[in-house]
Amino acid sequence: MTLDNNWFTEVADSIGSAFSLKINGKLEEVQTPFQKIEIYDTTHYGKLMIIDGYTMVSTADNFLYHEMMSHPVVYTHPKPEKVLVIGGGDCGTLQQVLKHPEVKLAQQVDIDEQVTRLSEKYFPELCTANNDPRAELHFADGLKWVKDAADGYYDIIIVDSTDPVGPAEGLFNEAFYRDCLRALGEQGLLCQQSESPLSHVTLIAEMKQAMRSAGFAATHTYDFPQPLYPSGWWSATLASKSGEITSFREDAARHKPFATKYYSYARHTVVMEGVPFLNK
Ligand code: SAM
Repeated sequence: MTLDNNWFTEVADSIGSAFSLKINGKLEEVQTPFQKIEIYDTTHYGKLMIIDGYTMVSTADNFLYHEMMSHPVVYTHPKPEKVLVIGGGDCGTLQQVLKHPEVKLAQQVDIDEQVTRLSEKYFPELCTANNDPRAELHFADGLKWVKDAADGYYDIIIVDSTDPVGPAEGLFNEAFYRDCLRALGEQGLLCQQSESPLSHVTLIAEMKQAMRSAGFAATHTYDFPQPLYPSGWWSATLASKSGEITSFREDAARHKPFATKYYSYARHTVVMEGVPFLNK
């Protein structure tokens, strides 16, 4: 990343592109044992969280990511009662998951407590469900957490992690997916942010292959816009423990008892269609 004349720029050298936001100034910088976290005030996107130089969350556009990382998978599972969010320390995914009355327990396991503390300070609107009696916030390595989980305990595991470098590297490989598979119930679903369908096609293919090799019965990659991330076009991949991913709880999605800005029943039908060239 570079800072030049009040412009924050994230250079994605490996994919030959860059993304810039105009900033009013830096609000905070914390070096934790895991990563460097910075918070900026931008002119048009609200607050901006950066981890190790990479954009994570902005006030303006995080709803796209958080809604699309949660509602598709929760409405796809027939009985989503126990949900684990790995990473997601800004609490935005947890907040969306807890909008579902069927969910009885939602655990968030982020390796770095400082991400959550800074989110509480600069993105309080994402942290409104943290005191929900169904919410548990843990600060631990997600890899170990899943390894230690009881067999079949979770209905859904959502991997809301940083890119596959640094502490998140192990969250994209077969050994981890094997642990997730074991920790999921028979109808269990995994949902993982899977980078850009434009720029990370090989990574997505390898990730899906690793999920299948670990024993998942089917995978399905869908897309959504995300202005903050490289290429502006992002994806998530679902993996199911048993059976194909061909349906969702349509009636429940059509009559969802909460407001969303991007996710909708109609949008979910597009999720079911997925990204054709990534689902061959
Ligand atoms: N939406 C973002 C993206 O795609 O760039 C990710 C947001 S969220 C802030 C990512 C979180 O993953 C960070 O808070 C980081 O601490 C966490 N994380 C990275 N590796 C982890 C691990 N091994 N276990 C648990 N959390 C991890």
